[in-house]
Amino acid sequence: MIPKGRVLALLTLVCVVLTITSSAQQEPRFDFYTRGPYREAVPRPQIVTRFDVGDFHTNYATMERVIERIAGAAPDRVRVFDIGETNEYRMMHLLAISAPENIQRLDQIKANIARLSDPRGLSPAEAQQLTASTPVIVWLNYTIHGNESASFEAMMQVVYQLAASDEQATQDVLKNTVALVNVCANPDGHERFVTWYNSVGVGNPEPSAAEHEEPWSIYGRNNHYRFNLNRDNIATSQVETRHMQRAYLEWNPQVFVDHHGQTSQFFFPPAGLPINPNLPPEMTARWLTAFGRANAAQFDARGWDFYVRDIFDLFYPGYWDSWPSLQGATGMTYETDGGGWKGLRWKRDDETIVTLRSAIAKHFIASLTTLETASRERAARLNDYYKFRQSAIEEGRSDKIKRFVILPGRDPGRAAELIENLLRAGIEVSVAQQSFRSQRAHDYSRADSPAGARDFPAGSYVVNLAQPQKRLAKALLEQNTEQDAAFQREQLARYARNQRRSRSAAREEYGFYDITSWSLPFAFGVETFWTEDAGAFAGESLRLTPRVVGTGDPSNSGRAAAIAAGIGGDALQMSAPALRGGVTAHASIAYIIPYDRNGAAALAYRLLRDDFKLAVTTRQLNAGGRDWPRGTIVVRVSRNPDALHERIASLARETGVEVLGVNSGFSEVGDTGIGSETVISLKRPRIIVVADEPVSQTSYGAMWWLFDRYGVDFTPMTVDAIKRARLDNYNVIIMPDGSAGRYFAALGKSGVDTLRGWVERGGTLVCVKGAAVFAALKDVNLTSARLVGSEDEETQKTEGTTPQQPTTTTPSTPAGESTSSTGAQTTAQPAQRTPQRTTQTGTGGAPAEPQVVREEANQTEKMDGAPPDLPPIASPSARPGRVPEAVPGAIMRATLDRTTPLTYGYDETTLPVLVDSGYFFRPSKEGTNALIFSGDENQPLRLAGFIWPDTERLLRGTSYVIEEPTGRGHVVLYAEDPNFRAIWRSTTRLFFNSFLFQPVF
Ligand SMILES: [Zn+2]
Repeated sequence: MIPKGRVLALLTLVCVVLTITSSAQQEPRFDFYTRGPYREAVPRPQIVTRFDVGDFHTNYATMERVIERIAGAAPDRVRVFDIGETNEYRMMHLLAISAPENIQRLDQIKANIARLSDPRGLSPAEAQQLTASTPVIVWLNYTIHGNESASFEAMMQVVYQLAASDEQATQDVLKNTVALVNVCANPDGHERFVTWYNSVGVGNPEPSAAEHEEPWSIYGRNNHYRFNLNRDNIATSQVETRHMQRAYLEWNPQVFVDHHGQTSQFFFPPAGLPINPNLPPEMTARWLTAFGRANAAQFDARGWDFYVRDIFDLFYPGYWDSWPSLQGATGMTYETDGGGWKGLRWKRDDETIVTLRSAIAKHFIASLTTLETASRERAARLNDYYKFRQSAIEEGRSDKIKRFVILPGRDPGRAAELIENLLRAGIEVSVAQQSFRSQRAHDYSRADSPAGARDFPAGSYVVNLAQPQKRLAKALLEQNTEQDAAFQREQLARYARNQRRSRSAAREEYGFYDITSWSLPFAFGVETFWTEDAGAFAGESLRLTPRVVGTGDPSNSGRAAAIAAGIGGDALQMSAPALRGGVTAHASIAYIIPYDRNGAAALAYRLLRDDFKLAVTTRQLNAGGRDWPRGTIVVRVSRNPDALHERIASLARETGVEVLGVNSGFSEVGDTGIGSETVISLKRPRIIVVADEPVSQTSYGAMWWLFDRYGVDFTPMTVDAIKRARLDNYNVIIMPDGSAGRYFAALGKSGVDTLRGWVERGGTLVCVKGAAVFAALKDVNLTSARLVGSEDEETQKTEGTTPQQPTTTTPSTPAGESTSSTGAQTTAQPAQRTPQRTTQTGTGGAPAEPQVVREEANQTEKMDGAPPDLPPIASPSARPGRVPEAVPGAIMRATLDRTTPLTYGYDETTLPVLVDSGYFFRPSKEGTNALIFSGDENQPLRLAGFIWPDTERLLRGTSYVIEEPTGRGHVVLYAEDPNFRAIWRSTTRLFFNSFLFQPVF
């Protein structure tokens, strides 16, 4: 009960708000307490929060008190499980809510579900008995995007309803389901958002009001390291993901709902195309439709707007709807229409008002309806779950792909990290004890490599697909995931029409929600085969060494645990001794650090950071009785203090690198030994990373995470600070991906001159993706490289029709979403923040393109409603086939120039890389093109994912990584982000090379 005085105060507040908004249409105030009777002992959330639903935002600690009070008052229905800490030391909680008789047998229920989830050795009769006697597990996931705040508030109302109500419908839900409520999937991001919003929000619905413009340093969508947690189920790099995956596999839910909030109207499934083809189509569609129809009935009854399908697909396996779906749950995304960046109140484009409270109400109803649907369909849903798991095993036995074999290779730590990813996702992996043979093995060298006989050595990792997690395993490991043909045809039709449109006409958006390829063997750069046979072999099942979760031990909590979570397969070290690094012997002359593992980059950096003296061989080196390739690192004992011996031994163990101790400088063969002139001293990198409005949050965050993990110090600096700082105290400036136009606007001519002067005095400027586009702008000219298609821009400029200069308008879409973007996004339409999960703006690589308002395109273009014809004429300003269309995340084969220090440590001739934009760089005329796309038309470039008809032709002969000398310094350009989502591990050393080896460029 709420004390009377408080109710009065709340009513007064309501009246004030109503008075202000009397002119605008606003939805009626939803009553959350009509579904009683309620148990008196259980407190309403408002008793603790001291404000009414949707009048303010609840912070994490207050929410924890709400949950604690409710759970304490309803122990018969509610159990609280702590599932692990975030980077900022907040505890994540999973609640199990069910009827008292279920709560008392939770372990039995878990065990029953676990048996259904692995049907091997389970008879049909037993399965039937289990489905008859076990509640269905429904996971309700809230606030994975921390600034989608209606989700957070709705959660507390759902928990209260389930814990307190004696209504018959609620009782039925409790009897037939175990509701697992993940109270907040992204506590750190949510806390940033609400602290900021609560302190500035006045409830002003005007879209241009300050409270709707979340600052760069807040941006609560992402977690501490600015990772989008709704993409991380592929790399599983973030602690929140790991905690949730561990809990998921403990409970094996049959229904999973991820609650979001940034669409214009409420969204729920059925999902749009494309659907991941590893999902059984009929079963998937049937359940999505069943839950969707039930929600629709409730929304229709209340006159609430919603939509289904559209652009919310189910393709990329790293979302929290597709990842559960691939394991047999009905995985769904719900998006509510208010709260978050829309604040307490928001004026829509038709001047009606959406409130935080009404957005909370919609999530509340959708959550409860989902539970009711699951409750009603309990036995059928459980039975289909069992069938899903069973048919997965059968398919694994009969499909063409029966097994993946993954070789540890030259960087066994990187392979082990890949294997850990699979184990965290509950995929069964074993390691071969003896060599074995496949008669029909395919390598990953090309899209359609032929089968051949192949022997695999002991130590190879084996993933047999005849296992319950087959569908997820295949989705993560297969070379390419096919997309629906009709979906692709539709995108190509839009492309054909766009090609004929003028430069300034609005272009049709494409339906790609995210990257179209992610194959882990490519991304990790680990040699992998798939085989058509799956003969017996001697293998041992791998397990992750369990990590203790919880408080008490600071070395095992929060950020410390995240950082210690290991370079080089730390968690697998128990079963794979080869992963352990160390020094072979106490050296009297030098230590040799082979540079073929990612861990070696960390080791070299950390020694430099500790002021030890290191050098790198620029020619093949002979030392310790063997040859070492260029790029091998030499630590001379004579140049270093005695502390070196102990330090290098401990760091080698930590980073998983085998270091050789050498006791003579004499080289047996060749012209390069430890004392040679061509072994060049390295300098300690002193690094600035730009951290400011133009910068993509996720690009910055992936770098930050990598640097923390590898122990790299850096100084985050705003653009203003860079303009006035003593830059000569630093020798490296890294500009993460970001909008080229906004970089230019923020730096201005004087800032560009400052950067240029610093580079000419000896600095190394590293530009990633959008920042590389910035460097290549004609008016910036920090490199001689130019974008393919930009010649047209320059012609335009002389004709005076299109502004070449990036405009100074800021900001545009939140930088965090910006995995790819046109160079100069200049419009500030808040509407653009809506649903696009990705950022394929589709306007090609050239900066200063006219901006398409994405929202309108999405709403007016229906997949099957678009006109079948081409525009009758191509506009005179159209340039079909001249400007690259942004590629929606395909994997392409690049060729390495192995004569440059940028590629030290790579002995392969080609490397699979991600192309996720239309930024194709013409080769540098003045510098080195370290990675290029072959001009040889007999070498197919595409390895996986979707590309446009002109992509390969335009990409051929362009550069992916460029190094160019300027004065005494250098500019290094990466066409794409080498640290993308922490999925891409094969380019980690390539990235380190740009600052570790700056003295030898
Ligand atoms: Zn979201």
